[in-house]
Amino acid sequence: MEQLNKEIEALSPEEIQKTLHELRVHQVGLEMQNLELQRVQKELDASRERYFELYDLAPVGYCTISEDGLILETNLTAAILLGVTRNALVRQPLNRFILIEDQEVFCLHRKQLLQIAGLQGCELRMVKNDGTVFWACMEAAVAQTEGRTLLYRIMIFDISERKRTEMELVNANEQFRSLMHNSHGIIYTISPDGVVSYVSPSYIRLLGRDPSAILGMDFRSFIFPDDIAACEAFQREILRTGVVQKGLEYRVFHADGSIRWHLSNFTPCLNDKQEIVSFVGSAMDITEQKRYQVELDAARKTAEESEKVKSEFLALVSHEIRTPLNALVGFSALARKTSDPDILSQYLDIIDHSSHSLMDLVNDILDLSKIEAGQLSLETIPFNLADTVDLIAWQYASLAAQKHLELRVTKNIPQPLWICGDPTRIRQILANLITNAIKFTESGNVTLNVTTTSSILDTCSLTVRLEVRDTGIGIASDKLNVLFQPFRQVDTSISRKFGGTGLGLAIVQSLVKVMNGRIEIASDEGQGSCFVVELPFAECVQPVYKKIPTPIVAPLHILVVEDNAFNRRFLVDTL
Ligand code: ADP
Repeated sequence: MEQLNKEIEALSPEEIQKTLHELRVHQVGLEMQNLELQRVQKELDASRERYFELYDLAPVGYCTISEDGLILETNLTAAILLGVTRNALVRQPLNRFILIEDQEVFCLHRKQLLQIAGLQGCELRMVKNDGTVFWACMEAAVAQTEGRTLLYRIMIFDISERKRTEMELVNANEQFRSLMHNSHGIIYTISPDGVVSYVSPSYIRLLGRDPSAILGMDFRSFIFPDDIAACEAFQREILRTGVVQKGLEYRVFHADGSIRWHLSNFTPCLNDKQEIVSFVGSAMDITEQKRYQVELDAARKTAEESEKVKSEFLALVSHEIRTPLNALVGFSALARKTSDPDILSQYLDIIDHSSHSLMDLVNDILDLSKIEAGQLSLETIPFNLADTVDLIAWQYASLAAQKHLELRVTKNIPQPLWICGDPTRIRQILANLITNAIKFTESGNVTLNVTTTSSILDTCSLTVRLEVRDTGIGIASDKLNVLFQPFRQVDTSISRKFGGTGLGLAIVQSLVKVMNGRIEIASDEGQGSCFVVELPFAECVQPVYKKIPTPIVAPLHILVVEDNAFNRRFLVDTL
């Protein structure tokens, strides 16, 4: 200071004047600089304030944590996110706000930050002060202070909403997957030109092929050819209407070559321009239902047919009953009035014939119902086959003669031949076949051929072959299958002309079956028919009957017990 005073005193007044001026100019310059500085300072303050506002209210939580994990500073958003005041956050360890189960994630994340430079992210669950858990995405980078200590700058985003959507998507996917897996049907998508773009896994279960095998193929290649047109029409209908179409039934090929019935619905998928970009279909296997339907239809048809047959039978039987009944009633009345013994004898013949016809019919019906109920028991007795055949031939010779037909009998059998079986039933079979042969033949002849063949395996067993051939009206080939059905006649006009109830052949067939034999028929309409029956028998020896002397019968007292008065009278008079 002393030095400065000495220098000033040494100055001349002009020099002092000049120096003062220079100092004033300098002062003005400084004052201007000061003003500029103040303006810049203000701007800086404003920008700092703006920065802090942005920093605080950013949609992302920011915080800086020390190397040992303590929160050093944070923005307001982070404090709001964690549910505490900003001041309360400072000096808190950040992992206090991380769910225990996800602490490991955070730990790893910090390690990674040290190994890899730049921003790193991780997703974990954080816990608010009030215990609410939320999903957060943390993005962080390592920063270094001048003192060489490490700092972590962390950004925290609440991603709960995104996570929920993701979860929902995962769940929806899982539900969709399980639906596809467990669905009874097949879900598929095809493009408008028919190319398969998706098939659910159930395809392998229902059609035996892996879904991948058919992706990219034309759907028509799996459809039964006859059903392709219907499928295409269905598709065209959706393209035309743009709405769901339901209930298409079609057949598809299974990998094993079988054909399955499917029932499908078809939904159009539209893009944002409302154009159909694909079709989603859901198909169900209805093969069983179809089979059931076919069976049901067949059963219904059979029921309808048997209903028809029943009515025809009732008409037929009532006719067959009424005819002899009319004769019985009419000729009994006439017999009462006549005194001419010859005429009376003729009337009695007619009454006798009619009552036998009636009896035969009733016997047939009873026989058939017995056979159908499985109640027919066969006799097993030794009998002479040749005698049985001769007896039948003798019985029917007169019937044939009445129609001027020749009844020829040929027997190609060993003599004598005794077999074990039921001769009555053999006679019943032959009687039915010969009666028919005579009934349906107007001219020519009826032949009965009997042959036997021994079994190669068992010398005691043989097969008896009965062949009844006629030169009658024959049977149309398409009618042969109904012949053996009970109450069935080839043609109602034939039955009107020839009579009969349609029971004879049914009885024959049932008897042959019970006797373990078989029956065949060959016939030409207008040429005649040939029925062949083959029955197995065991050969046996001729029984020896002891001659029993005729007992001397003393006058007897016989008690007849019968509730029906007519039967009682019949028995009394006979006795
Ligand atoms: P029916 O009492 O009507 O003769 P059947 O069961 O014995 O009953 O015969 C059924 C039908 O088979 C007959 O109505 C007839 O149309 C046909 N039929 C049977 N045997 C002959 C035959 N030998 N020639 C032509 N048709 C026959």
